[in-house]
Amino acid sequence: MRITTLGTAAGGGFPQWNCNCRNCAGVRAGVIKAKARTQSSIFVRPDSGADGILFNASPDILEQIRANPALQPMRGVRDTAIAAVVLIDGQVDHATGLLMLRERGQPLPLWCTDPVAEDLSTGLPLLRVLDHYCGVQRQRITLDGAAFQVPGVPGLTLRALPLTSKAAPYSPHRERPVPGDNIGMLIRDDARCSSVFYAPGLGAITPEVFDAMAGSDCVLVDGTFWSDHEMPRLGLSAKSARDIGHLPQAGPGGMTASSFEQPASATTSGATSAAESRRSRMEWLLSRSGGSAADVARRAGCCVHAAQAECSHRPGRRPRFQTGWLCDGCDGAWPACGAARGEWRCWPKAVCRRW
Ligand SMILES: [Zn+2]
Repeated sequence: MRITTLGTAAGGGFPQWNCNCRNCAGVRAGVIKAKARTQSSIFVRPDSGADGILFNASPDILEQIRANPALQPMRGVRDTAIAAVVLIDGQVDHATGLLMLRERGQPLPLWCTDPVAEDLSTGLPLLRVLDHYCGVQRQRITLDGAAFQVPGVPGLTLRALPLTSKAAPYSPHRERPVPGDNIGMLIRDDARCSSVFYAPGLGAITPEVFDAMAGSDCVLVDGTFWSDHEMPRLGLSAKSARDIGHLPQAGPGGMTASSFEQPASATTSGATSAAESRRSRMEWLLSRSGGSAADVARRAGCCVHAAQAECSHRPGRRPRFQTGWLCDGCDGAWPACGAARGEWRCWPKAVCRRW
């Protein structure tokens, strides 16, 4: 898959329009080494195929389209590469860009959870406004872990994870969070058997989120705050990062805290191949969370040859069965097999489970 990060800033963008902090003032004056950034959104499309999925429609979407040819019209007098929009939540900085797409000729396919659809029909009734323009073709994202595909974007499989966070401030149930207010999204490239976990708003790392992050080839997650109390410290707000639903990067329990650190032996740097890297990551994950490789891989949203690789250990002996590890792109590679060390030959009878 190809991922275009359209924007990586929090709500308000960077520099924020009314902010005179050292960073915002510095980037305006060009005296610090930083780049202005638009509000968070990604565009994901398969390797072969022009059309893709817009994850979140930020108020900066028009600027983001102007800056990225992949999203620009190519095939007719009216055209777009945006086959559908997937909303991670109903926050203003993730949803109000929908209004900027109102010139579309057909109803806009819009994937979101029920609570987000409700918020966007009540507290911030964008969907009702859009009905007077292109309209939306609402598609329901369920929270039962069911995989789904977006029509027009073959080869990508999606799965939502409910996250612990908060509904948008305008939401009628802001103080009564319900599952589905915020989701993380596992996006898998079916052909490559690779996946990315996208969660631009993340309040806590639950076991499910932990598995999803550890089992993905790439994570794009909430980096809004470095420390929990940076807003109070700057005198900008009395609320901490956690108070407003963001897990800080540093500090006790933060995203980079030791509880989430991966040992150096399990990182990709020392690995000689993608398969080895994936295997060491799974070993580490297993050591942390227990369960069988198949269980962990399934929770992590990955593909697994489920413990049925038939290995002929030595000529003349009964074949024996190896515990399975993640396959490497479903191409028959078998990273746990000793074939690479010349010890035995292996026929991975590919019982390749996909979610
Ligand atoms: Zn600032």
